[in-house]
Amino acid sequence: METLRVLELYSGIGGMQYALKQSGISGQVVAAIDINTTANQVYRHNFPDTPLWNRTIEGISLDEFKNLQFDMILMSPPCQPFTRLGRQRGIADPRTKSFLYILNLLPRLSQLPRFILLENVKGFESSSARQYFVQILMECGYIFQEVMVSPTSVGIPNSRLRYFLMAKISTESICSNSKDLQMSPLTAETESSVEPSLSSPQKPVTSSLEKEEGMEDCVLYKLETANDAQRKLNQNRNLSIRQIQDFLEPQENDDMDQYLVPSDVLLRYALILDIVKPICRRSICFTKGYGRYVEGTGSVLQCYLETEIESVFKNLDQFSEEEKLQQLQGLKLRYFTPREVANIMGFPKSFSFPDQIPTRQRYKLLGNSLNVVVVTKLLHQLLSKW
Ligand code: SAH
Repeated sequence: METLRVLELYSGIGGMQYALKQSGISGQVVAAIDINTTANQVYRHNFPDTPLWNRTIEGISLDEFKNLQFDMILMSPPCQPFTRLGRQRGIADPRTKSFLYILNLLPRLSQLPRFILLENVKGFESSSARQYFVQILMECGYIFQEVMVSPTSVGIPNSRLRYFLMAKISTESICSNSKDLQMSPLTAETESSVEPSLSSPQKPVTSSLEKEEGMEDCVLYKLETANDAQRKLNQNRNLSIRQIQDFLEPQENDDMDQYLVPSDVLLRYALILDIVKPICRRSICFTKGYGRYVEGTGSVLQCYLETEIESVFKNLDQFSEEEKLQQLQGLKLRYFTPREVANIMGFPKSFSFPDQIPTRQRYKLLGNSLNVVVVTKLLHQLLSKW
């Protein structure tokens, strides 16, 4: 196949370009476009030869797009309008303006790109933006497939359920058969019921639990339900998923102390931290607030493994603050480093941040990015026959 000319919109730190590279598809990013200057510094640092446009997408003219003569669009439009926190205003939200601009521009290109891959958050599938996107695709003669995928379905111990739409230009002129175009998960796994509901912890269950097999020794010590505990147990037993330890940096590294969960966080939020051990086969989605906000922003790692976590949490409320802190510190809980988060998200060893980018910014940029391994698989699928 000839080299595809690829347009990478909302390029961020280049998750899409990494997936393109890892897919082995012969493709060249002819322009990457993003308005975030910090993300652009990282992008440029890793892809110095890719033309990077530090501009708003809606400020780019039809002619400029036409001149790029691209065969493929890879894009992750801003997801806040579709998330719960973003109030789900969809296309009424000014942040979707650039996406609508692209959609309106598509039919006016002299040559339609042969392939389109879009990534977005769960929630996009029921948005008006998705409806409009699908309508434009059908009018332009694309066939497409929509999937919800989490990295766990490709063996990575991390939940990050995302919506993807893969479209390719149909050889027939118009695709009118919409019944073939239904949502179909890539694998049998669906994760909607698997994402922890940390934002609304239900009443902790202590002893009334009917114990299931393997849960005999399992003490429910935190703000989690019996279902949460069972789900974690099942995830850790799933041998098709790799262990967290495969993604960690060398532990003897002295710099690790800076990642320890601070005392005030331990004291205030111990019960809602999602704690994993190196042998675990799960972690929760790392979001842009990781390292800054506690609730539901990503898992923390238990480094001191001699201490039984259950024994620490069991009687925690009976201790004084000082004793409590001492107990919790005994677990040596730390945040995953940005490098480790990047590893979990499938970024290759060659990826790095420029030195001047502070840790919090690194988490933020990674939290906005995507799982490279998942997108690599989807690109394979897009380029192969359906
Ligand atoms: N896939 C990317 C992340 C996408 S997050 C990665 O791998 O990192 C969405 C990105 O869209 C953000 O970086 C944001 O700066 C950019 N963005 C949002 N609105 C934009 C607009 N109107 N024009 C250009 N870029 C925009």
